[in-house]
Amino acid sequence: MSRASGSFRLSIVVPCFNEQEVLATTHARLTAAGRPIPGADLEIVYVDDGSKDRTLELLRNIAATDRAVRVIALSRNFGHQKALSAGLQSATGDAVVLIDADLQDPPEVITEFVARWRAGVDVAYGVRKRREGESRFKLLTAHAYYRMMGRVSDHDIPFDAGDFRLLDRAVIDALLTMPERDRFMRGMIAWVGFRQEAVPYDRAARVAGETKYPLRKMIRFALDGIFSFSATPLRLATYLGFFASGLAVIGVLYAFFLRLTTSAVVPGWATLLIAVLFLGGVQLVSLGIIGEYIARIYGEVKERPLYVVREKIGFDEPR
Ligand code: UDP
Ligand code: MG
Repeated sequence: MSRASGSFRLSIVVPCFNEQEVLATTHARLTAAGRPIPGADLEIVYVDDGSKDRTLELLRNIAATDRAVRVIALSRNFGHQKALSAGLQSATGDAVVLIDADLQDPPEVITEFVARWRAGVDVAYGVRKRREGESRFKLLTAHAYYRMMGRVSDHDIPFDAGDFRLLDRAVIDALLTMPERDRFMRGMIAWVGFRQEAVPYDRAARVAGETKYPLRKMIRFALDGIFSFSATPLRLATYLGFFASGLAVIGVLYAFFLRLTTSAVVPGWATLLIAVLFLGGVQLVSLGIIGEYIARIYGEVKERPLYVVREKIGFDEPR
């Protein structure tokens, strides 16, 4: 294949968790957007992330009627980021697009991704200019989170970018050599390097169905991002330690000063209690932070596979 012109294999990876309401629409839109791209030999890889509704059944039907479709069914719900990894592992494209099943990210943007890729960009990532149909709470927390990540992370993870992006084969091969279990894909892709470029777009509301990221999962995901890509929280404990010791020294000097210059005595037990509680709190939080890292080390050393595949559909058909 030639990247600047000519034909190439384009894979689209779609993680699906209980997406029965949108799948038919999604497949139609993806096909309509992907097929006309000049030179693209299209492959769509749906990953069923242990859905409890009719998602897998619908995917089976889609695969039976469309030879471009492949389906990987995971043995249970492993989570969005692992589903993406499963899709990347099986995608055969020279360029691979990651997109959500709910059509919040318009498939039409893929044309622009491919144009950038043709021009030599290795990672074309979507950056959200506007977001429709999200709660104020989600917008606000997302905004704050991206900025905070920018400060604490050791790598430049782009602001307001999700997982909607195109990856060159070289980037995918690099990603596949990374064995970590806490997979914060956008961070891992930033770590890999290569030529990366932002493509601004407007994010739509979900076409149908509910978000599959309840607050609990969102918090977990946010913490994954921080703890997998930054050691700053560990340093925080050190800084707090210095700060508390500094306060103590000032307190001692102040008490001496009062004792020598006046007859006043530093008043009593409330100060003491506050100091003890403050230090106790700081120590517990620091322990918690260390625990968070240890839990992740524990998860890594077990070296379990990232996910388990129950079934693969459409992989052995000749193309
Ligand atoms: N998803 C998944 N496994 C999960 C949760 C979500 O594969 O455990 C998929 C989901 O089907 C969708 C994508 O990840 O294609 C993004 O999820 P969602 O749209 O619910 O997240 P939001 O856009 O609300 O952040
Ligand atoms: Mg969504």
